[in-house]
Amino acid sequence: MNKHFDLLIVGAGILGTFHAYHAAKLNKKVLLLEKDRFPMQASVRNFGQIVPSGMSTNWFGYGASGNELYNSIQSEFDISIRNNGSVYIASDLDEQQLIHELKTIMDGRGYEAELLTTNQCINKWPSLKSEYCKEALYFPQELSAEPEKLIFRLHQYLLKKYKNITIQFDTAIVGCEVAGEKVIVTSHLHEKFTADKAIICSGTEFKLLFNNLFSESGIVVSKLHMLRTVAMPNVALEGNILTGLTIRRYESFEECKSFPKIKTPAHLQELKKWGIHILFKKAIDGSIIIGDSHEYASAQQAEDLGFLQNEYINQLILQEAGRIVNFEVNRVATSWSGFYAQHSEKDIVEIDLENKIHIRTAIGGKGMTTSAGYSKHSIDKIYNL
Ligand SMILES: Cc1cc2nc3c(=O)[nH]c(=O)nc-3n(C[C@H](O)[C@H](O)[C@H](O)COP(=O)(O)OP(=O)(O)OC[C@H]3O[C@@H](n4cnc5c(N)ncnc54)[C@H](O)[C@@H]3O)c2cc1C
Repeated sequence: MNKHFDLLIVGAGILGTFHAYHAAKLNKKVLLLEKDRFPMQASVRNFGQIVPSGMSTNWFGYGASGNELYNSIQSEFDISIRNNGSVYIASDLDEQQLIHELKTIMDGRGYEAELLTTNQCINKWPSLKSEYCKEALYFPQELSAEPEKLIFRLHQYLLKKYKNITIQFDTAIVGCEVAGEKVIVTSHLHEKFTADKAIICSGTEFKLLFNNLFSESGIVVSKLHMLRTVAMPNVALEGNILTGLTIRRYESFEECKSFPKIKTPAHLQELKKWGIHILFKKAIDGSIIIGDSHEYASAQQAEDLGFLQNEYINQLILQEAGRIVNFEVNRVATSWSGFYAQHSEKDIVEIDLENKIHIRTAIGGKGMTTSAGYSKHSIDKIYNL
């Protein structure tokens, strides 16, 4: 194999993969390198909700353009994208106020949004409880994906469509340095690759490369609890179902003028303490993904989050889920922990070294929605377009 490339990308999660896609479209010869035999981090452990409506200003734009790109790829190759929309269910007056304000913001952006009454919601999603659902805001154009399929299908699509992309798995990159006009990266098996540039999209891995930089970066790791029920084909809950605590949490609602005045009612305080908000996503096999919670540790101490699940958190999630829907949420088939990197002040971490090595990581909880759109902006900036 000729080991010189225009661009090396470290990390084949969603962020690295979409950087590879946009670079390949510019005819760059790209090598995408992944340490594991297949990606197994945040890009496969997520909900698969593609929800630009939850994003704040710039990131809304990346989400909306990402939505278009997902649709366009899906029309050529099945990457598991479905168009069932997203709905935010308001359970009290404060949440209703916020969905009305978000509707006004979205109308101003020309982004289709529809307010639904309780009856309209129950007709569309009979598995919702009418006593919880006071009103809702629906975004019919939004998409969802099967998280355990999307990234693998994207890789297949890239390899089929772009002869200028190579993907190499089972290759942990342990060295990356500028040498004259080139970047040299070295794998754990001492294999060397060179390129004009490298992009590092290494997710929550901070030790193999640039450990010092990451230690000082202010990156925080978030641990999430996720549960999946047994298959329940009769449960009518298509699309991305987001509920009251999500309205109280997502960035787009922070832009509403009433947001600073909203107080947390007593019955939600324990849930808020664990960063819990309740989301549902029905998978193609009829199982329902339910989550999630958020616990945090600095990048240097991410191990402290552990890998086990705190059953108390799972019970809080299921109890609140049971207030929202009328099927048996306790019929859990499996559960897992997911981790993503984020920054408390920045929307993403971008570090450029000698204009040759470009670190792009800590995209937070919005990576499945925004990576497709953000990576185009990032590639254009890296190549001064
Ligand atoms: C439970 C959960 C639910 C979520 N739900 C949603 C959702 O519904 N919608 C949404 O928009 N977002 C969601 N997210 C967020 C989204 O999943 C992440 O933002 C996104 O997957 C991050 O992608 P990434 O490519 O940066 O990181 P990762 O997926 O972690 O990928 C990084 C890759 O780099 C590889 N790597 C690291 N270091 C090296 C190295 N030195 N050499 C080679 N390879 C390396 C890793 O093995 C890994 O495969 C969720 C996240 C979690 C955890």
